[in-house]
Amino acid sequence: MAEVTIEKVAALCRRRAFVFPSSDIYGGLGSAYDYGHYGVLLRQNIKNEWLRALTQEREDVVALDSAIILNPQVWAASGHIGGFSDPMVDCRTCKLRFRADDLEHASCGRRPSKHPGETPDCDLTEAREFNLMFETFVGPLRDTQSVAYLRPETAQGIFVNFKNVVSSMRVKPPFGIAQIGKSFRNEITPGNFIFRLREFEQMEMEFFVPPSEAQQWHAYWIDERLRWFTSLGLRESNLRIREHGPDELSHYSSATSDIEYLYPIGWLELEGVANRGDYDLRQHAEHSGTALEWVGHDERYVPHVIEPAVGVDRSMLAFLCDAYHEEEVAGRPRTVLRLHPRIAPVKAAVLPLIGKDTAMVEHARALYEDLRRVMTAEYDDSAAIGKRYRRQDEIGTPWGLTIDEQTLQDGTVTLRDRDTLEQERIPVAGARDLLLERLQQPWSPAPHE
Ligand code: ATP
Repeated sequence: MAEVTIEKVAALCRRRAFVFPSSDIYGGLGSAYDYGHYGVLLRQNIKNEWLRALTQEREDVVALDSAIILNPQVWAASGHIGGFSDPMVDCRTCKLRFRADDLEHASCGRRPSKHPGETPDCDLTEAREFNLMFETFVGPLRDTQSVAYLRPETAQGIFVNFKNVVSSMRVKPPFGIAQIGKSFRNEITPGNFIFRLREFEQMEMEFFVPPSEAQQWHAYWIDERLRWFTSLGLRESNLRIREHGPDELSHYSSATSDIEYLYPIGWLELEGVANRGDYDLRQHAEHSGTALEWVGHDERYVPHVIEPAVGVDRSMLAFLCDAYHEEEVAGRPRTVLRLHPRIAPVKAAVLPLIGKDTAMVEHARALYEDLRRVMTAEYDDSAAIGKRYRRQDEIGTPWGLTIDEQTLQDGTVTLRDRDTLEQERIPVAGARDLLLERLQQPWSPAPHE
């Protein structure tokens, strides 16, 4: 099987309106991307599945959408102003800047085949701490009083709403608060397409538990999150758990396990599942003077927090890399995205075999109208049928419905399966219900070819 590379996935993403380089006509902006039509649909599906798994399929998690710019005291209390930094080194020779703790993934500016520091010409400075938060000013004055930050994580918006949620929702530990939203980090070395961005979207859940149960819930959420990825089609063999060593733990964490995915560039963090202990609630209670604790009938304690935190963009990249396949069908190359039907941007394509045949077009339009009331569907009568199939394969559409001569006679249509390429004849009248039913069925990728 042909090798999957980030470059191939990025090229498909651009060609098929998933991801465009941002501000392209002005030469782009380092590591910023815009999402096109299919990218928007895919991301929306990923976000919906995440929120659904937490807030609809369970009854112990509620949703929140907090502001991006918070009172700066939040970031003083959380430790981000003081401690949210990466060590940075400069090379005096090539003038590039690198993350000191990640030189093995960086390339020397003069000899890209070497890592920084590996050639005799490299002249690296001592490592210095570099704060990753983007600063801005709120209001008309630009002074120290008006400095504010774009949030580097969504989690703090959850902690500062702990009291609001507890007093307004019927929750009791163990319970969670889930949030999806943009976060911003002035990363020293962004890159690898949408893997590391400066503006990205996160899906984070803070799960508040009695202190004695923290370890058990930590293990539970690692399993649960792994299950979520595999239930949406990621290959189990491309996922693994890696526990952080004591030297890499974040300032707030007592234990963190990364869910890593085997990206074409190697095993890298897809999601972090951290045991944040009572660090955040205690910090905010101390800085704000507001008690942040659970008070039950005969108990009072500061809950501990388990946090599964994942990027939408990084998940999207994992789903795309896992789904990307190049193969040969009947002597011709085919590129196909084998996405789980539930996250595929378009579920069904309706194609009249002959685009100029009025009767076929009429039947196809009617079926398309019927389908799109309940799922994303596309109608396409342009170009030869093979070309239309290839386009749908590349955007990962699981089902193609082709209206042909026979449809006009007996009211059946050809249903083409993206993965097996099998074609079956089904009644047009039952197509919508059949696809709705198939969308609910489990789907798993073919074993690694
Ligand atoms: P890394 O070690 O890769 O910098 P992190 O450990 O700092 O990541 P967390 O703070 O745990 O990341 O953030 C949770 C999740 O948010 C990550 O697992 C990742 O999916 C996503 N994420 C973090 N930083 C970025 C980024 N710069 N671009 C895209 N996604 C990101």
